[in-house]
Amino acid sequence: KGNRVAKGPPVAPSLPYLDPALPVAERVADLLGRMTLPEKVGQMLQLNAKEGVRHFVEDLHVGSILHTSPERVLEAAELTDRSRLRIPLLVAEDCIHGHSFWEGATIYPTQLGMAATWDAELVERIARATAVEVAATGVHWTFSPVLCITRDLRWGRVSETFGEDPHLIGELASAMVRGYQGDGLADPTAILASAKHFAGYSETQGGRDASEADISRRKLRSWFLPPFERVAKEGCRTFMLGYQSMDGVPITVNDWLLNDVLREEWGYTGTLVTDWDNVGRMVWEQRVYTDYAQAAAAAVRAGNDMVMATEGFFEGALEAVGNGTLSETDIDAAVRRVLTLKFELGLFEEPRRPDPARQAEIIGSDAHAVLNLEAARRSLVLLTNDGTLPLAGGLTAGDDGRATGATGPRTVAVIGPNADDAQTQLGDWAGSSGQVDWLPDGQPRAMIRTVLDGFREHAPADWTVSHARGARILDVGADPEGQFFPDGQPRPEVVIPAEPDAGLIGEAVAAAEAADYVVAVVGDRIELIGEGKSTATLELVGDQVALLDALAATGRPLVVVVISSKPLVLPPSALDAAAVVYAFNPGMQGGRAVAEVLLGLVEPSGRLPVSFARHAGQQPTYYNQIRGQHGSRYADLTQRPAFVFGEGLSYTTVAYSGLEVLTADVGENDTLRARVTVRNTGARPALETVQVYVSDTVTSVTWAEKELKAYQQVELAPGETREVLLELPVSECTLVDAAGRRVVEPGAFELLVGPSSSDDDLLRAGFTVKG
Ligand code: BGC
Repeated sequence: KGNRVAKGPPVAPSLPYLDPALPVAERVADLLGRMTLPEKVGQMLQLNAKEGVRHFVEDLHVGSILHTSPERVLEAAELTDRSRLRIPLLVAEDCIHGHSFWEGATIYPTQLGMAATWDAELVERIARATAVEVAATGVHWTFSPVLCITRDLRWGRVSETFGEDPHLIGELASAMVRGYQGDGLADPTAILASAKHFAGYSETQGGRDASEADISRRKLRSWFLPPFERVAKEGCRTFMLGYQSMDGVPITVNDWLLNDVLREEWGYTGTLVTDWDNVGRMVWEQRVYTDYAQAAAAAVRAGNDMVMATEGFFEGALEAVGNGTLSETDIDAAVRRVLTLKFELGLFEEPRRPDPARQAEIIGSDAHAVLNLEAARRSLVLLTNDGTLPLAGGLTAGDDGRATGATGPRTVAVIGPNADDAQTQLGDWAGSSGQVDWLPDGQPRAMIRTVLDGFREHAPADWTVSHARGARILDVGADPEGQFFPDGQPRPEVVIPAEPDAGLIGEAVAAAEAADYVVAVVGDRIELIGEGKSTATLELVGDQVALLDALAATGRPLVVVVISSKPLVLPPSALDAAAVVYAFNPGMQGGRAVAEVLLGLVEPSGRLPVSFARHAGQQPTYYNQIRGQHGSRYADLTQRPAFVFGEGLSYTTVAYSGLEVLTADVGENDTLRARVTVRNTGARPALETVQVYVSDTVTSVTWAEKELKAYQQVELAPGETREVLLELPVSECTLVDAAGRRVVEPGAFELLVGPSSSDDDLLRAGFTVKG
C-alpha cells in the first residue's frame, strides 16, 4: 500500500495507554482511568466543526467533529495535540458517493444509481476508491452506507438508498462496508463505515421526512432489520440512528432495538452514533423530556456512544451524573467503545492527518475517473425503446472515444434543463448540495461531463450537436413559516415551479425540427431533494412537461433522458416517446455514459432497484407488498406501477426457458438447486441480470407474494445460449411469524426466475420444504 498519511508529533510511550505494544483493552482501561468526568462526557460528543473548533476541543473535550473544512482539520489536530491527554479526534464526514465535499474528489452515481448496477463487486470497488481519497484528507469516518428501504417515493432521501428490496440492499451495503473498511482498521486507507439510519426511518407517513414511523417490531424484523443484521455480522464498525419515533418511542431511547436486538441478539460490539441533535430533539421537538439532563441520561442508558450535534449534552450529562439519574459506569461503557475505535485505527501513534502529497496523487485520479465511468455506464436503465436506440443503429468507438460509422452526417438536438447542468447531475451530498459552505460553486466543472458534453465529445466527427435549454424547472422563495427551525438550523427555501416560457420552448422546438434526433434531458434539481425536502408530487416540475409535449409534437424521434434523484411520474409524451433512459444522479461521468449508451458505444445494462409510480397517489408501489386487498386497482387508475423493480432493457432480447428445480424436496438445511436457460436472441451483446424470487404458497401469517432471494449477472454474446445454475440455501426461504421469529415454514413453495419482478416476466417451478 505504501500510503501512510502524514506523521503527527512523536508520542513517548511513557504511559501505558501510549504504549502500542499493549493490548487495546489495556490501553483503553488505562486512559479511561486517567480521564475526568467532563473529559469522558466530551469524548461522547461529536460537534459541527462549521461552527469553530477551539471551544469544542478546549472546553468541551469533544471526541469527534464533522463537516470539517480542509483548514479546520489541521486546526483541530493542533488543538488536540496541546490537550491534556492528547486524545486524537475522530473526524467524520458524509462521503456517501465519493468524498462529497472535497473539491476535486471523484463523485460517483448516488447509491440509488449504484444500486441500478446490481453489482456488489463494483460497489465495493467504488467504496474502496472513495476510502483511499477520504483517508488522505484526515477524515476517518464516513456516514455511509444508507440501508434505509425506499417505501414512499415522495420521501426526499430516496436517492441515498439502494432502493426497495432488503436482499439487494444487504448485498450492496455489505460490499460498501468491505470497501470502506479495507483490510481492517490498521490499513491506513481504511475508513470507518456507518450503517444508517438504524432502523425504520424510511417508513414515513406521506413521505414526510422523519415523521413518526408506523411500524411494529414484527414489521421491522420482516423488512428493515435484515440488511442491518447482515452488515453488523460483517463487521461494520459503526451504526447511526435515524430520526423517527416508533410506537411513541424516539429511536434514540429505543432500548429494545438498541440493546435487546442490536447488542444482545446480534452481539454487535461496534459504536453507535445518534443522528443530528437527536438528544436535543427529544427535548425541543418530540418533547418527551423536560430538559437536557433527562434526555442525556436516557440516551446514554439506551446505549448511544456518540452524540451528534447536541452541544447541550455536555452540561446535561454532567448534571445527570451529579443528580444521580445517570451513572458514570454507563458513560464509561460508551467512552470505552469510542476509545477502542481510536486505538484500533492507530490514531495515537499515527493520527492520519491530511497528506497533501498523497492528495495530489490520488484525489480525482484518472484511475478513479475510469472506475466512475464504468459505474455510470452500468447505472443507466433503458426503460422503453421502439428501436430508435441505439442512434444510427449503433456505432463503434474510435481511439479518441468518438463514435465512428458510415451513417453520414446527422444532427442531434440535445435539449432540456438537465442536458448541461453539471452540479445537478451530481445530486445530493456533493459539492454545493447545501450541507457545507466551503464549496459554493460545487465540484470543478472541468471534472464533470454533462449529456451535452458527452455528445459533443463522442458523437461521430461529421455529426452536428445542437443545444437548447427549453425549460426552467423552478424558482425558490423564502419559507413563509420563517427562516429558521426552532433549533437554529436554516429552513430550506420552498420551491416555486417555473411557468412555461414560450421563448425557451420555441427555441427548443426550432432546434428539434432542424434535427434528425431529439434527446430531451429532464428531471429534478437539488431544491427537490434531500432532508426536509420531500415532495408532495412526483411529476416533472415546472415547464418540463410542456417542453416534452412540444418536442413530441414535432414528430422527430424523441429520446427522453431523465436525470433525477428518484423515480418520477413520466407524462404520456415521455412514455410514448421513442425511448426513455433513466439516470439516477449518475455522477461526474454520467453525461458521457448517457451519450455513449444512446450512440450505442455501450450497451444498456442497469436494472431498476425501485418501482416507478404512474401517479403519486399510488404510493406505495414497492413490489414486495403483503397479500390481501379487495380488488387489485383503484376505481380511477390501475394499481400497476409504471415500471417495476428489476426492470430494464438491453439493445437485444434475452429469452428464458426450461426452469427446472433439481432438488424438488428439500430440508431446511439443504441448498435448493435449479437451472434455467437464457438465450440472447438478438444481434448485440447483453449483460443479463437473472433474478430469483421465492413465493411461499401458504403462510401462517400474511406475507409478501414474492421476495428477491438471489441474482446472477450473465454476459451473453449475440446468439449465445447459456444454462445458469441457481443455488439458494433453503434457510433463506423465511418469513417472520406472528411471534416475531424468522422461520422457514415447511410446505409448498415456488421458485420464480426471470428478468424482472413482474409476474409476466417470471418462469415458475414448485418445490417442497420437508417438515
Ligand atoms: C442525516 C445523516 C447525516 C448527518 C450528518 C443528518 O441530518 O440524517 O444522514 O449523516 O446529518 O451530516
